[in-house]
This record gives sequence, structure tokens and C-alpha cells, in this order.
Amino acid sequence: MESYNSFKVAQSQVLEAAKLLNLDSATCDLLMWPQREFTFTIPVKMDNGSVKIFHAYRIQYNYARGPAKGGIRFHPEETIDTIRALASWMVWKTAVADIPLGGGKGGVRCDPKKMSERELENVSRAYIRGVAQHIGIDKDIPAPDVYTNPQIMVWMMDEYETIVNNHNPGVLTDKPLQVGGTEGRRDATARGGVTTVREACKLLKIEPKTFAIQGFGNAGQRAALLHEEILGGGKLIAASDSRAAIYNPKGFDPKELVTHKLKTGSVKDFPGSEIISHDELLTLNVDVLYPAALENSLTADNADKIKAKIVCELANGPTTPEADIILYQKGIHVIPDILASAGGVTVSYFEMVQDKYSYFWEEELIHERLDKKLTKAYHTVQDAIKEKKVHPRLAAMVVGVARVAEVCKLRGWV
Ligand code: GLU
Repeated sequence: MESYNSFKVAQSQVLEAAKLLNLDSATCDLLMWPQREFTFTIPVKMDNGSVKIFHAYRIQYNYARGPAKGGIRFHPEETIDTIRALASWMVWKTAVADIPLGGGKGGVRCDPKKMSERELENVSRAYIRGVAQHIGIDKDIPAPDVYTNPQIMVWMMDEYETIVNNHNPGVLTDKPLQVGGTEGRRDATARGGVTTVREACKLLKIEPKTFAIQGFGNAGQRAALLHEEILGGGKLIAASDSRAAIYNPKGFDPKELVTHKLKTGSVKDFPGSEIISHDELLTLNVDVLYPAALENSLTADNADKIKAKIVCELANGPTTPEADIILYQKGIHVIPDILASAGGVTVSYFEMVQDKYSYFWEEELIHERLDKKLTKAYHTVQDAIKEKKVHPRLAAMVVGVARVAEVCKLRGWV
């Protein structure tokens, strides 16, 4: 994933938006760099008795609009620059969703697929020991991301509470319900994304009959399950994960495919499926394509072949700047990541609010409030596309960057 430097991409996106907004050079410099970065090593006892040193990061990219917020990834190819890029995107995401938070991200360079449950717990707890004094509900609130999950959040929360000697569930979000989690968080990223697809279908006056999902992790699986509820149907004709891409023009039963994935660890060998290449999946003739894997999937090499009417980016940073231009020229309706994937952090914000009050909302209320936030954000971005006559990502960046810049100015930072 690092053949492309994601941080350079993120910086170029900020610069472009700043130019359109005529921001002064100090504001521009402020927004192009993280406000605060932590890089540290964590020694972890492995099952075979050895000690392994892992490289870890936490970046609080901008906290003008509120405490830094964003996930922690466990990935073998993590670098300071992937985390910087992801942290930057969180800032614009929380601003586009209009929730009172800044943006951040963290990560550990490790391969969770090759680690035991106990080793994962050791890494999670050691990570928190490395950053405990710098995080907190009013400072920086991590959450899951690629290859991390609610169980990891509980281990981290438990380690944090032990260190600060206080009950403090709101320090991390997307926890299990029993320990201060919220209803509706597990499917929130997908629910937010599919909600924006609903708005796009109304606007374009199309019926989403077929869809494909690249990356069948949490967000991808939930999007498949939510199509029926939010869009009244649509056939899932292709899905992929790191091991395989599968296809069936007649459509898969989303529930059965999710069960198969959870049982076997992959979509591979799902009954009735045909194996296709990862690139073929991206270029299928579908109404909606969901990139829900890692960065830089839609590039100058394949963007020209994309046939989907709507591209809903559930992953962070799936499209390169060159591909953005190509998709825009082809008239494909892209719902950019900082809008399409904002449902997760929006419900994380709801979780923090509930943790602060120690009073929890019903699921329907969460869904209703999420729907309202994302519908409004979708139309705000559409208005910016029309007003500025730019591609959707740049329009969303303009909305986000303008909101953050305004607060930096009000605070007297620039
Ligand atoms: N990891 C998710 C994202 O990239 C959610 C972050 C959060 O809830 O803080 O948006």
C-alpha cells in the first residue's frame, strides 16, 4: 500500500482545497501538518518466550474543533506516513459530518493474522501504556480500524483505567455494549455509507439493482446486509477480501456470505461463486461499487475501466488524485471517503456523549440521528460540488477544510 505515499496525497488534497478557499499561507501550513505526533516502540512478550519490539504511532493531526478522534490499525505495512494521511482524513471527516471533534489516527506495525489472542492482548495493552498520558475523552479518543475490533478496545480501556485509576469508558469507542459501548456502532460506518447511496440514488433517479464490495471486512459485510433495509434490495454480485474475489451474476445471499466469511476467514470457496481477479471486481458493470479495503485501490491504471454508476468509499483513501479526475470526467458519482465513511465516527461521538452521561440511548434514536447527520452532510457536499464546480472529493475537502480553518482563526492560531 505504500508504493503511493498516502501522506503526500493527503497533503496535496489539503493544498488544493486551501487554494480554492484562498487561505493564507500560515493556515495552509498548519493544516498540511499534524499538530502532534507520537512514535514509540513497544516490547511485547510473545508466546514462545521471546520479546519482540513493535513500532507504534499515534497522531493528533488537528484538535481545533474538538479532541482528536480516530482509529488504531494493526497492519504489517503501517508507517508514520500512512498514519499521518489517515489522521489528516479524520480531521476533514469529522468536520464534514459536523461533529465537535478533531482528527487523529494510530497504528502498530504488526501482522495480527500471525499472532495469538494473548499476543494481541499484550500488544494492545503495551500500546496504551505508551500513549496513556496523551489520550482521554477530552484529548484524544481512539477506536477500531483495520484489523482491530471491540475486544481490542476493551483490553485498551481496561489498561487505561488501571493506569489512571478511574472508571473511564469514554477514552475509546466501539466497545462492546456491556462496557460502555453504544447501540448501532458496529454497523455505523456501513449504515452511513448506504444512507448516502440512498440520497445519491434519489438525486440521480436510479435504482440500485446490483452492487459489488471490494473488502469484505466489518464495513463491507455490514453494507451488504443493510442494502435490503435501507435501499429495499439490490443484488450483491461480487465481493472480495485479501485472499480472493468472487462473482455470481445471480447474486449472493449476503447473510450466508457473511456467515461463510466469519467461519472460514475468507469469501473464497463460497458455494456457487466464480473466482475473478481483484481488478475485474472493481471494473464490473454494477450500479454501486463499494471500495471497502485499503488505500489506493482506484488508480490511474484502472479508473478508466470503472463502470459503476455510484462509487461509495467505505475505505479511507481508496482513490488516488489521478483516479479522482478520471472518474469525474467519466461522470461517475463518487461519494468520497470523508463523507461516505463518516457514519462510524459519528456514532463513536454518540458513544462518547452517552459515556459522559452514563445514560444510554435506544438503537432507533442512534439510527435516526446518524441518518440526519449523514443526509445533511451529503447534501452540503453536493451543494459545494455545484458551487465550486469541482470533483466530489475536492468539494468535501473544501467543506471540511473551511470549517477547521475558521475555528483555527477564531482561536487566534493563525
Ligand atoms: N476507524 C473509523 C474511521 O476511519 C472510525 C474512527 C472513530 O470512530 O474514531 O472513520
